[in-house]
Amino acid sequence: MSDPQRREFLVAAAGIASLATLSGTQPAAAGDPSFMNNVPDPVAAGKELPTFKFALEKSEGKVIGNSFGKEATVTQLPISKGIAGVSMKLEPGAMRELHWHATAAEWAFVLEGRVRTTVFDPAGYAETNDFEPGDVWYFPRGHGHMLECLDNKPCHFILIFDNGYFSEFGTFSITDWVGHAPKPLLAKTFGLPESAFDSFPKDEVYFARGKIPPTEPSVPLEGWKLPPETHRYRLLAQPPHGTFQGGREWRVDSTRFPISKTVTGVILDLDPGGVRTLHWHPNANEWQYVIDGDVSVTLFGSHGRFRTEQLSKGDVGYIPQGYGHSIENIGNRPSRMLIGFNTGVYQTIDLSNWIAANPLDVLATNFSQPPELFEKFPHRDVFIAAKDGPGK
Ligand code: MN
Ligand code: MN
Repeated sequence: MSDPQRREFLVAAAGIASLATLSGTQPAAAGDPSFMNNVPDPVAAGKELPTFKFALEKSEGKVIGNSFGKEATVTQLPISKGIAGVSMKLEPGAMRELHWHATAAEWAFVLEGRVRTTVFDPAGYAETNDFEPGDVWYFPRGHGHMLECLDNKPCHFILIFDNGYFSEFGTFSITDWVGHAPKPLLAKTFGLPESAFDSFPKDEVYFARGKIPPTEPSVPLEGWKLPPETHRYRLLAQPPHGTFQGGREWRVDSTRFPISKTVTGVILDLDPGGVRTLHWHPNANEWQYVIDGDVSVTLFGSHGRFRTEQLSKGDVGYIPQGYGHSIENIGNRPSRMLIGFNTGVYQTIDLSNWIAANPLDVLATNFSQPPELFEKFPHRDVFIAAKDGPGK
């Protein structure tokens, strides 16, 4: 062994030793990001790839009145350790009460109706925003917030959390806390008689129900203290990030929406027969929700493992970080998907682009083909292909 080789060997050996220590003492657990890169995830380590599909909108979820929250966590979809999602509908006058998520940031996309949110941060800033279909919000992990339906018609939105376990030990609601805190403690905290809390709810309300909110929100007790970074981004009000023969994509990460440090969101439209071509994401898991249409999603998991799932409107899919995949519209009308990544900076490696970037002799040897064959391959990243192949 030469000296540089020996040095590399020693560094690698030290890495294996520390990995063994880690895996020997600690199974992969919620909030432990190490499982994504180092410790094999038992859910995805079997001979066959597990299912990566869950029929979210067909599930029952939590229903109060005409409002609901349906969730996809590791309980419903065991492979989805990095990201959880919720479909939530609020009836007019309903509010998802003041709460926070101890172990997840919240990213959302509005499908129908209008929503108002107020979010409060540790610097003492609060922002109240109104949202329309196509708009996005992001609340950093642990920041207090509420969501309420505006107007006389229901609203429907999809929430994405950067932790697949978030539901089990993640949601802290204000009524749950106040309802269980001793009255003398509440009296001292707020400078009120204990009796002031007699008729407060005793248990978590979750969906509070009241009047339809005013056109303009009423002023908080301490007035408005607006944060330096907004929590709202109007995704579909922008032109698409990329337009191709076969489809188009809108994308927002922290480069355009600075507060969104841990989530990237995408709206992917595919024409019939269109394909988001074979690719992987080096730095993030991918969570998919079909807004409309029928798609076929493939997953490549190494060691010959390959799995295909068909997703339709209301279904959820999940692609682990670094796994190869593709999405094809197999219906006869356009498809639209909401896709979330647990990263603030979007990255992709597309197979077409990787091939185009390698020396021809490498490709020839690798595939046992004449080098001239590869001249016919695309000389660029395809990203989205149309029904009859890559556009110009
Ligand atoms: Mn929330
Ligand atoms: Mn992808």
